[in-house]
Amino acid sequence: MTATATATAKTTAYTYSFKEGDGKNKKLLGGKGANLCEMTQIGINVPPGFVISTEACLNYLETKNQELPAELMDQVHDQIKTLEQDTGKGFGDADNMLLLSVRSGSALSMPGMMDTILNLGLNKATLPGLIKQTGNERFAWDSYRRFIQLFGKVALGIGDEEFDKPFNAIKKREGITEDTDLSAELFREISDIFLDVVRSETGKAFPEDVYQQLQLSVKAVFQSWLGKRAIDYRREFKITADMANGTAVNIQTMVFGNMGDDCATGVGFTRNPGTGENVMFGEFLINAQGEDVVAGIRTPKPVHELTNEMPQMYKELVSLRDRLENHYKEVQDYEYTIENGVLFCLQTRDGKMNATSRVRTSLEMSNEGLITRNQALLRINPEELEQLLHPLLDPESKQAPIAHGLPASPGASSGYIVFDADRAELARDAGEKVILVREETKPEDIHGFFAAEGVLTSRGGKTSHAAVVARSMGKPCVAGAEGIDVDVEKHTAKIGDTVLHEGDVITIDGANGNVYLGEIDTVPPKFSDELRTLLGWADEVATLKIMSNADTMDAAAKASDYGAMGIGLCRTERMFNAQDRLPLVIDMILAKDKVERQAALDRLRPIQRGDFKDLFKIMSPRPVTIRLLDPPIHEFLPNEKQLEQEIEHLKCLRDTVNGVNDLMNTMQLLKRQADVKELPKPFAPGGRELVDSAIAKKQQMLLKVRELFEVNPMLGHRGVRLGITYPEIYEMQIRAILEAAAECNKDGFDVCPEIMVPQVCTGKELLWVREIVDQVHADIEAQYKIKLKFKFGSMIEVVRACMRAGRLAEIAEFFSFGTNDLTQSTFSFSREDAENKFLPLYEENNILQDNPFETLDVKGVGRLMEIAVDWGRKTKPDLKVGICGEQGGHPESIRFCNHIGLTYVSCSAPRVPIARLAAAQAKLTEKDYTLE
Ligand code: PEP
Ligand code: MG
Repeated sequence: MTATATATAKTTAYTYSFKEGDGKNKKLLGGKGANLCEMTQIGINVPPGFVISTEACLNYLETKNQELPAELMDQVHDQIKTLEQDTGKGFGDADNMLLLSVRSGSALSMPGMMDTILNLGLNKATLPGLIKQTGNERFAWDSYRRFIQLFGKVALGIGDEEFDKPFNAIKKREGITEDTDLSAELFREISDIFLDVVRSETGKAFPEDVYQQLQLSVKAVFQSWLGKRAIDYRREFKITADMANGTAVNIQTMVFGNMGDDCATGVGFTRNPGTGENVMFGEFLINAQGEDVVAGIRTPKPVHELTNEMPQMYKELVSLRDRLENHYKEVQDYEYTIENGVLFCLQTRDGKMNATSRVRTSLEMSNEGLITRNQALLRINPEELEQLLHPLLDPESKQAPIAHGLPASPGASSGYIVFDADRAELARDAGEKVILVREETKPEDIHGFFAAEGVLTSRGGKTSHAAVVARSMGKPCVAGAEGIDVDVEKHTAKIGDTVLHEGDVITIDGANGNVYLGEIDTVPPKFSDELRTLLGWADEVATLKIMSNADTMDAAAKASDYGAMGIGLCRTERMFNAQDRLPLVIDMILAKDKVERQAALDRLRPIQRGDFKDLFKIMSPRPVTIRLLDPPIHEFLPNEKQLEQEIEHLKCLRDTVNGVNDLMNTMQLLKRQADVKELPKPFAPGGRELVDSAIAKKQQMLLKVRELFEVNPMLGHRGVRLGITYPEIYEMQIRAILEAAAECNKDGFDVCPEIMVPQVCTGKELLWVREIVDQVHADIEAQYKIKLKFKFGSMIEVVRACMRAGRLAEIAEFFSFGTNDLTQSTFSFSREDAENKFLPLYEENNILQDNPFETLDVKGVGRLMEIAVDWGRKTKPDLKVGICGEQGGHPESIRFCNHIGLTYVSCSAPRVPIARLAAAQAKLTEKDYTLE
């Protein structure tokens, strides 16, 4: 507690000095504030300061007229007094002034989300003092104009462009490109203009009173919590109000990196955030202030150049980096300032990095003994692994780049150019892929990052705003491509003589910084050895097995490569849709009677058997779960409207054929009369019969489509109901499965087929299919003279099946929750329509927190699953239970599945790595799992 808090024990303590605040309490002090306290307390050279707590922010936001808590400014006064004592300076003292920075900082890091005010405390009275004190007029005026702009923007809500325009006009007038070339006189002129901007934009003079400056700044930081970009960011990353908990305000003594050539400012990562390599990484600028590096206003130099320019400082920086990482046991992203040869650390936070570097650093930090293997697994967000599975630019492509910048965030993407964030959003909403192209990006561009496939900037370094944000989102970024002259107003980007306009397609490669014209082909990514090792560790920890949904050889091969422990769902209907099978399937559907249907099925069986053999072999000895036919059979036929149109077209064709044949007859006559040597070749004889039989076939299909029509087919004639109506279909599939298994056995493969029945709601349905299975099984064992092992199970995807789980478990050896249908039937939301109709509205208005077709609804659907597992295992304690709906690949759902004791989750192949890691994390965090 602070001195203030101790003195007035009854009032709430809203302020905490860096020397005393609890570095572990990020919820109260925000991440930045807590770390400033912790760094101060472990002896790192941090400019002194204090934190205003998130509690003060929440109180402020709750008040009707948004007023600061009554006692807050008194506490701030007390803290400033302590700062004055510690520094020997005075806040507002013209001869020896204390200047402050004011920064936001919430519990969860949101890079660039809220604004910083620097040099607070400057006014007309203190400015001459600063000039006298530093003997550096240019520095003082530069500081002043920065303060007016930042304060004007953050606290008074004046747009940056109001300041940028006159600033750039003066640079242009003077023929200056670098800010460092501006003289004291020019900065003075700029400051005066800025003061006028404030007066004309707000109708009031710039506040001179330093405490008023401070109070307005604190309010502005609190207010920025409700700003559009902060809200957008929290929404995108699903940061709930409770998780985020408002923002703290960090008030810190200013130190200056822009007082001369023995000053500098920089940002660093304790390891390379692009590759994960354990090296010094960062950038700095001599004689500059921190925001210049981050905002990309000047392109900074790589940190190793500091070895020449300030060798002693470089050594100190290495030691700072080591201390930070050893203390936090996490890659740190830190900011520092060198003021007249003294190094100060201004902030540190856990480094945001892409998935490649997160995996590598997890592995290496664990191998170095800095963290345990479990910690290594827990520090990766499983969803991030998806980035590693993104395509790369085809290395065979010979196309030359048109420009080159810094490789700021790896991955490749193509899209058409847009020059501002709003247009990026509009284009994305219209279904376009876009690349956001800017000179530099600012926090207010955040919605453009969400909308774009990638980001290209012409200024700024690898730690610029664009780079940091793109990396944290896993989107490709090329930064500081200085050969590109971006004119945002004209919506053009000039590269040499080429002028690109909005709508032109480019490709960027964030791994090497190249920019190409047009769209370049991509190739699938490589599954790195590091990721393999890490996921191996995950498998050792996890209890849940990870299976894959796969029904093609490609998907099965990918699943196998990604470490799937079997196939949890093979949807056989997908195999029916292949070109060589569909005609057979249609024959089967159109069959007039059982005999005709059997004939079609007899032709289908060897094809299915072949497919199953391939899957069994590639997954051997892992299980392969094959689901018997599920969808309503009309889905294999064209729809009614299409058939009617086709019949219409064929009838026209018949008229054409008749016409051409008439023409031919007429030509015969003409040939006799005139000198016609060659007759045109009309349709071959029989053409008309061909068209007639095509018409007949389509008419037959049309009749069938009408006969099969159901108002609500997804709740109709599908799944096991179909199998009971046409037992020969299921019989053919069961035979194909067991024949394939027998043949694989003969070929020396250990296979483990599982036959799964969809849409079951009663035990009798399951028994009915089981009888066919037993019969076919006996046949095959006799025919191949072998013992054949297999499993028989039920999908659980209707509510009644959950309620009858105890009974179903008497017949089934395994259950698999089909949570796509189970969600549909539990909510009575159509899985076909809900996501395009009302679900977005439900999510926006928080009526539902998540889309239940993506994230398992643990409170409703999950509850039914829990009951079904419980009752099923009462009947059969070793019942194998899994999930194969889309939610099965979602980390939050996996946590729940682990919690209720499922045996496995099955998800699409690309999500297998994500699920493997999520399963390990679920196990490691199970003790903390609570269902509200
Ligand atoms: C399910 O319903 O969850 C399922 C896996 O089956 P399908 O999506 O094929 O209906
Ligand atoms: Mg289903």
